[in-house]
Amino acid sequence: MTSQREVTFSVVVPVYNEVESLPELYRRVRAVMESLGEPWELVLVDDGSTDGSTELMRRLREQDPEHVRPVIFSRNFGHQIAVTAGIDYARGKAVILMDADLQDPPEVIPQLVEKWREGYHVVYAVRKAREGESWFKKATAALFYRLIRRITDVDIPPDTGDFRLMDRRVVDVLRQMKERHRFLRGMAAWVGFRQIGVPYVRAPRYAGETKYPLRKMLKFAWDAITSFSYAPLQMATYLGFLSAGMAILAIPVVVMARLAGSHAFYGQATTLIAVLFLGGVQLIFLGILGEYIGRIYDEVKGRPLYVVAEAPDDETSPPPQSK
Ligand code: UDP
Ligand code: MG
Repeated sequence: MTSQREVTFSVVVPVYNEVESLPELYRRVRAVMESLGEPWELVLVDDGSTDGSTELMRRLREQDPEHVRPVIFSRNFGHQIAVTAGIDYARGKAVILMDADLQDPPEVIPQLVEKWREGYHVVYAVRKAREGESWFKKATAALFYRLIRRITDVDIPPDTGDFRLMDRRVVDVLRQMKERHRFLRGMAAWVGFRQIGVPYVRAPRYAGETKYPLRKMLKFAWDAITSFSYAPLQMATYLGFLSAGMAILAIPVVVMARLAGSHAFYGQATTLIAVLFLGGVQLIFLGILGEYIGRIYDEVKGRPLYVVAEAPDDETSPPPQSK
């Protein structure tokens, strides 16, 4: 049975409606992995595709049962969760994460492997240029990577996506980190060990549209921030001190103005502005507090991270997802 084989390299690819890219992805990954001359597998995680990617993945497995292992979800669970499942099912001594749209060229993998053989545990690919993406995507991405670096304690490398190679030791630690709102690149940085970057040019999408609309990008950024930082909560404290300080300073100013016979700060407008401003600030922070509480609630429920409809191996093999 294929599941008993020793595998050196696992290539993990999350797939959400990528039917046009899949054959080319398989062809190029295969060519690169065969050139490395060690046993490998391609773990394709179908994240609830509706465009025929699922059937195509099953066909690829029939064609090449030795290498292709599809994990098919019961619905769309999101990119980071799909990658998580791929890591759970991967059996390799090194696990390579990449996207299905060939924006991460498989031809970079030998460079990652070379560093791994030198003894690095995480080899992440750094985008030195991004081709075929809108200025908006590049600008928001640049802003996001800088912000997350500033407000977290973990040294998350900038301009680095999930395209990376991870050693089994790192993968085993990651698999114990069962948090629900996942920001894998931050989690991998948190694990530590020897990490290094390799520059590459991010290619344009091979086919189809991005599966990360603005809405998903914002959720991703917010998950990243709340998973790794209390900065949004602490801002309430700073703003509280600031407005209290302003009030204390304002009291003598107003008293002096009155004594001097001035009519400054008379009337409803000032009161109204102050009440609305503080009311607004308080509601915003109540919302932020709510976001964190919601995340605690999600963790407490302790649901599985994903539901697999079709596992890659025979029924007898236990599901790798730990609780
Ligand atoms: N993806 C996924 N589930 C989702 C959204 C995306 O598995 O809900 C996969 C998608 O198929 C691709 C990868 O995640 O392999 C990255 O998505 P995409 O290329 O659309 O993101 P972008 O490169 O535009 O940031
Ligand atoms: Mg892409």
